[in-house]
Amino acid sequence: MASSSPDPAPGSSIADRFDAVRRRIAEAGRAAGRDPAGVALVAVTKTQPDAALAAALAAGQRVFGENRVQEAQAHWADRRAEIPDLELRLIGPLQTNKAGDAAALFDVIETLDRPKLADALAAVSERTGRSIRVLVQVNTGSEPQKAGVEPEDADALIGHARERGLLVEGLMCIPPPDEAPGPHFALLRKIARRNGLSVLSMGMSGDYETAIRFGATHVRVGSALFGERNRPETPSRD
Ligand SMILES: *Cc1c(COP(=O)(O)O)cnc(C)c1O
Repeated sequence: MASSSPDPAPGSSIADRFDAVRRRIAEAGRAAGRDPAGVALVAVTKTQPDAALAAALAAGQRVFGENRVQEAQAHWADRRAEIPDLELRLIGPLQTNKAGDAAALFDVIETLDRPKLADALAAVSERTGRSIRVLVQVNTGSEPQKAGVEPEDADALIGHARERGLLVEGLMCIPPPDEAPGPHFALLRKIARRNGLSVLSMGMSGDYETAIRFGATHVRVGSALFGERNRPETPSRD
């Protein structure tokens, strides 16, 4: 199964799990003939208690993914000032009325999935005078309930976002949980190449090594680092 997360060994510490995941990322990178430094680990801290965030920081982690704006503010707004090299990435759906809050907190918004959201982010950028870095999320499995632009509409959305002045760095996808992820990763890579994009955010706890084989530059890992989450995965736009 594509998305079964390897259960962290019971009793292992968060620091141990970071070590193990980093090692596996490096091995997968080398096995694919890639420079392992070209794969960034994005630690996904949604639903995690404060102690887990502190442990990740103590383990040297600086790049984090969150899927809700408000929770991310609670987790990171105060820490931001103390940790200059912190990098925050929004990996959950974004409502247009939260575009300003999201752009103020996050370094990169990975979930641009419609022209209206590109327009809202562009308006924020014009108002604040700050560039906004984005990835376009592609619904590679064309799942009706899932966020992301349809693969055949991706080129147009990328073009639209660029025209509006957003810094489009790459693409992001979440393959259907019940399918082999490889073809989805390959499709994302193909869309990125034809649009001259270098960043590929793909791969989660259950499939990040596969994603690295297909060229992932960012893998988003939660449960393999922190254990199972309490909150069920209901996609919420907040
Ligand atoms: C929760 C989440 C992850 C992390 O999932 P795990 O299976 O716990 O590693 C990655 N990407 C997105 C978009 C998520 O919402």
